[in-house]
Amino acid sequence: MLSYRHAFHAGNHADVLKHFVFVELIRHLSQKETGFLMVDTHAGAGVYGLDTGYATRLAEYIDGIDRLFNRTDAPPAMHEYLNLVREFNPSGELKAYPGSPWFAQRLMRDQDKLRLYELHTSDVALLQDNFRALSRTTQRRTSIFASDGFIGLRASMPPTTRRGLVLIDPSYEDKTDYRTIPAALQDALTRFATGTYAVWYPQLSSTESLRFAASLKALPAKSWLNVSLTVNSPQADGFGMHGSGMFILNPPWTLEKTLESVMLYLVEVLGLDEGAGYVLESAENQ
Ligand code: SAM
Repeated sequence: MLSYRHAFHAGNHADVLKHFVFVELIRHLSQKETGFLMVDTHAGAGVYGLDTGYATRLAEYIDGIDRLFNRTDAPPAMHEYLNLVREFNPSGELKAYPGSPWFAQRLMRDQDKLRLYELHTSDVALLQDNFRALSRTTQRRTSIFASDGFIGLRASMPPTTRRGLVLIDPSYEDKTDYRTIPAALQDALTRFATGTYAVWYPQLSSTESLRFAASLKALPAKSWLNVSLTVNSPQADGFGMHGSGMFILNPPWTLEKTLESVMLYLVEVLGLDEGAGYVLESAENQ
């Protein structure tokens, strides 16, 4: 039984980093004419109201997208992401926040395909409803599965066009995710070595969390990039999330430079105490 509902956290600092990087990855793949497959293994509901329901309870977006929505000084590299969030809020007031499936479908072209996996029965129903409201063409290019995204990833690789982007974005509520993800990626790289794989992860004080990036660095991808945004010092009691990261296997070569132009700004705008900061690192494995 899954208890995590992304609606509680929609638009928080972690969503900002994740979706900004996701948009950059999609934009990069769209530079070539040949279509590509996007797989979102943990899709969520796709769309979140911020002024009703779950999001109002924790109001995490207040220290996330709300701090950026009206800013006019964001680095140029952030404009596309921020403009998409603004387009999603046509009244000019921040009332709702789009999830990864919305960004993916919004940037998808005629030749691209999208596969969305979501296990939670309520969220997958919401996701299906949200996509029913979109155009017929978008619906034709999208497949929604009420099933396990790790199994779906296995079935999806390699894409027929040999071009693909995978987003793996679990809640890590289930600690086995820390082992399942490297194993799923190991398998995916065997099937499709040149794919771009993006893994979101939380910064927590647990041993599993602290060791996670190292387990991804050990994977046999040609290259990797790791970016994390810490928004506050870890709590003394060891509880809570103090930041998050995106780990990308086979990243576009331009991504590091793009992130260099943005991360300090994100620390300044989203940082909550003197513990705020970022890490940006990358390597070629051969
Ligand atoms: N990717 C979404 C976004 O950025 O808008 C947010 C996803 S949320 C962090 C994680 C989601 O994964 C939850 O909705 C949860 O129900 C779902 N989930 C958990 N385990 C799953 C699995 N094995 N396969 C597919 N979905 C899963």
